[in-house]
Amino acid sequence: MIARVTLDLALGKEFDYLIPGGMEVAIGTRVKVPFAHRQVLGCVTDLLETSPHADLRPLLKVIGRQSHVSPKILRLARWMGEYYCCGPETALRAVLPEAVRKEKDGWREHLFVRALPPQEPPPKLSRRQEEIMALARAGADVPLQEFLRATRSSSQTARRLEDKGLIAIAPKISERDPYARETILPTQPLALNAEQARALGEIAAAMGGANKAPLPFLLHGVTGSGKTEVYLQAIALVLAQGKGAIVLVPEIALTPQTVERFKARFSSGPQQTLVAVLHSHLSAGERHDEWHKIRQGRARIAIGARSAVFAPVERLGLIIVDEEHEHSYKQEEAPRYHARDVAVVRARIEEAVVVLGSATPCLESFYNAQKGKYRLLEMPTRADDKKMPVVRIVDMRAVARKEKSSPVFSPLLKEAITQRLERKEQTMLFLNRRGFSTSLQCPLCGYVAQCPDCSVSLTYHRQEGKLKCHICGHESTAPPVCPDAKCRNPAIRYSGLGTERVESVLTALFPHARIKRMDSDTLKRKEDYRRVLGDVRTGKTDILVGTQMIAKGLHFPNVTLVGIVHADLGLHVPDFRGSERTFQLLTQVAGRAGRGDVEGEVIVQAFTPFHPAIQYARRHDFNGFYAQEMEFRAQLKYPPISRIALLLLRGRNEEKVKFSAECVKRDLEKATSGISDLITKGPAAAPLARSKTEYRYQIMILTRQMTRLSLALAGLEATLTLPEDVKMSVDIDPVNLM
Ligand code: ADP
Ligand code: ZN
Repeated sequence: MIARVTLDLALGKEFDYLIPGGMEVAIGTRVKVPFAHRQVLGCVTDLLETSPHADLRPLLKVIGRQSHVSPKILRLARWMGEYYCCGPETALRAVLPEAVRKEKDGWREHLFVRALPPQEPPPKLSRRQEEIMALARAGADVPLQEFLRATRSSSQTARRLEDKGLIAIAPKISERDPYARETILPTQPLALNAEQARALGEIAAAMGGANKAPLPFLLHGVTGSGKTEVYLQAIALVLAQGKGAIVLVPEIALTPQTVERFKARFSSGPQQTLVAVLHSHLSAGERHDEWHKIRQGRARIAIGARSAVFAPVERLGLIIVDEEHEHSYKQEEAPRYHARDVAVVRARIEEAVVVLGSATPCLESFYNAQKGKYRLLEMPTRADDKKMPVVRIVDMRAVARKEKSSPVFSPLLKEAITQRLERKEQTMLFLNRRGFSTSLQCPLCGYVAQCPDCSVSLTYHRQEGKLKCHICGHESTAPPVCPDAKCRNPAIRYSGLGTERVESVLTALFPHARIKRMDSDTLKRKEDYRRVLGDVRTGKTDILVGTQMIAKGLHFPNVTLVGIVHADLGLHVPDFRGSERTFQLLTQVAGRAGRGDVEGEVIVQAFTPFHPAIQYARRHDFNGFYAQEMEFRAQLKYPPISRIALLLLRGRNEEKVKFSAECVKRDLEKATSGISDLITKGPAAAPLARSKTEYRYQIMILTRQMTRLSLALAGLEATLTLPEDVKMSVDIDPVNLM
């Protein structure tokens, strides 16, 4: 027999090897093979009787005790390789986490103590030894270290008992459990309201139905409509059918709070279904163990961020993609896959049900629902009959005219915060300042501090006294006076607004308030995140200031005011999704208010208060926004009317990059001549024209026939010869157009 193997090397093809007699190899087995003068790892993707190649070399070794990749996941990887134009090994790399790809088995072993059956006649023991034996018999297998601590004995004492044949000390796998320290109280299913019951009913019907590949569901439910309860009960249904489930949550929302809601329902109580968690905060060892818990079928529910879509759940019955509109589902390096779309394809392959949930579905998904490709489930009211929060919009232009300056807080927002402090209620203030537009500018000569390697201005970080580039990380000391030799203005102003400035203005206005800031600068470790949120939950924080980190999924009943400091930040960007993103963000942030007994209030400060994204968000009107935004997309043939492929060329020599881009465009026209609806834009300098010393040029291609375009692009890439120092990447369905 012959094994076809995809090596862990970016070669773009597969190789055949002989299977030595006695070696057990299946499709999906990880193997070690000879390659040139080296030994490399790879994955068996096919078993054949014959090979077109002569002189095959034998496989060297099988890795692990069980095949790693199921045939269905292999099919999924093959689809990814083709659709995202990335080659089979790149696609395969995505489906197997680094932690389980190693040759060495990644289990952690510890010595364990086990009491052996009593002997006849019982050996003579000292009083102390009798006591120790009593403890040893009380428990099952105990880790040696714990045993020594509990019995206050030394390892010699333990060894002596072992010599007497009273206990056995042996190495055993000791599983890492990232949630071991937590005690989670079990929860019972809630009685569903009519909207939830209808949604669950449709999902249940699809699960039990005769249709092997039911349509994906789009669950459009306003914030607080109780989507999570629907997910939980849908999972209970697939478990009852003996199947497993995957729950995808955006990285940022994968908080302990979220994970606990799932563990509480399934991991405690009589069912005791193990929930495995896969995300980037776990150590490599924890990730290894969690992955194998799923692979071995001990955990039946996998919850995680983007890459959990590949979790090796056998008999997969349900995939849930929560906050399906989230951009973090898109991987920004090869393979540039979108986990929501991969989930839809995986569900089709596995004949599973997929539920995409959001309060603000992305236009692509809602369009699919309109076209009948998805089934729409709507939950338009909050589950607990709480009212949607009142949203007030403040025209910051008028405030600036009246106050003759541009304050951070309008009088209305200031007043509202004061009220909350008096009433001992909490406030969340939100500013989505992603940094690179916050600049250091001299008001006299107009000097702006620029990154030497990227085409963006530097961001001022006051606490550290530094200027930083948010693209490449370049850092320098903030100048005390304007660096322009002719100017030297000591009053160089730190213009622009970031969360740090909001915090400092707030501290000056409300010296007695307990204020916490939450953004990627203040949160370096996962413990920080827990601590800050813990302080909000227990009422130790009055005002929480943050970036989009605080917009997602958080649930604090005592937050009655949400302030959005500068709502139009995301509108004036070179990206056709600016409006959509702003609408989503405002709706999500507003959804954080009034989750308790007191009605919530949202105050939105904006310089373009009449922009449709802001006005529709104010009225909680998704359908209105969708209709209006679709007109604009249709005019320009942007998604969801068509799909986009974005080619990016980059290199240090601008002329070469530009010239290469022109050449690519010419070849592209030839390669795609059969695709009738193609629109090509560019090449043009990317909005982020220079990054990390490299110049960047883009070609944008629009079409409805993406499968055909992907094929053509793969062909183009294979034949293309670019100068050594110019690189090209292909991004299918990009979310980042910078
Ligand atoms: P979403 O995920 O749609 O934003 P959640 O699932 O967080 O909403 O639910 C919002 C709140 O409503 C939660 O506190 C939840 O416990 C509560 N809730 C959900 N379903 C019900 C129900 N059927 N009856 C009462 N309360 C519910
Ligand atoms: Zn830079």
